[in-house]
Amino acid sequence: MAERIPETLQKKITDRLGFYEDIGIRLFYRDRGTPVASAAEISLQTNNVATDLNVISGEELTLPMPARKPELPKATPPIATAPQKTSSLQLPAPAGPSLFESLDKIAGDTLLKIRDDLGECTRCKLHGTRHKIVFGDGNPKAELVFVGEGPGADEDAQGLPFVGRAGKLLTQMIEAMGLQRKDVYICNVVKCRPPENRQPEEDEVKTCSPFLMRQIDAIAPKVIVCLGAVAAKTLLQTNRGISQFRGEWLEFRGRKLLATYHPAYLLRNPPAKSEVWKDLQKVMAVLGLEVKKGKSAEAGKSA
Ligand code: URA
Repeated sequence: MAERIPETLQKKITDRLGFYEDIGIRLFYRDRGTPVASAAEISLQTNNVATDLNVISGEELTLPMPARKPELPKATPPIATAPQKTSSLQLPAPAGPSLFESLDKIAGDTLLKIRDDLGECTRCKLHGTRHKIVFGDGNPKAELVFVGEGPGADEDAQGLPFVGRAGKLLTQMIEAMGLQRKDVYICNVVKCRPPENRQPEEDEVKTCSPFLMRQIDAIAPKVIVCLGAVAAKTLLQTNRGISQFRGEWLEFRGRKLLATYHPAYLLRNPPAKSEVWKDLQKVMAVLGLEVKKGKSAEAGKSA
């Protein structure tokens, strides 16, 4: 007879399954490629379950793959590949299917539901120091989504993204594109402010970013603009420096993605504004917005 799983472990498994459900992972399959085990093997495996699951209590570093996907062909395309016509840039594919690849789109998902699932989140250590969760703001059907890194002090106080100094610059950039903030959607990789405005840590990004992916899927924008390296590296699953692919058209789960410099970087390096303005003009062209010459273009550069 298989041993009973201890109650504490059972609770950990239940909590963990609840977490997966929150981030949209609902179905778990047994690996059909695994041969059926004999009774003796099953009993052995049951003992190992306890050992394996004890690793969970030590907070493992990587999330396990929830539902094994059918075997991918050898020449698996990388998550981020440049469309043939626009660029030859190819980012290296991650070692295996990423969490994002294995997370299927949730039919009928909405921003409200995602916000509800996020709840008064305590999933990572950032909850301990945050004041307000900064979920995201803007048009739930936006054609353009901006993704930043994480809330700063002003955002943490107001519960809204990009409302501080960098946010004011982003607003000016959006307006220079001929849009208003309410036309686009603005969100971040992590929803809670990292203390001292440090970069979000790997475990925080891993825990929070599935909600970002659900937001992107639910909005279904034409274009995603990553503001800065953290957003770009998170969505593209690459460690390459942003300057290597900034301004290139890339792809994220079938959508056009372009990474540009973060507005906070522009506050420190105003000359880089002209590069960002060129990037935004590419976005405007794809969205069918009038790419202005002369005065308005200057406004964009100096925003
Ligand atoms: N920086 C970000 O990355 N996001 C914000 O919301 C504000 C500043």
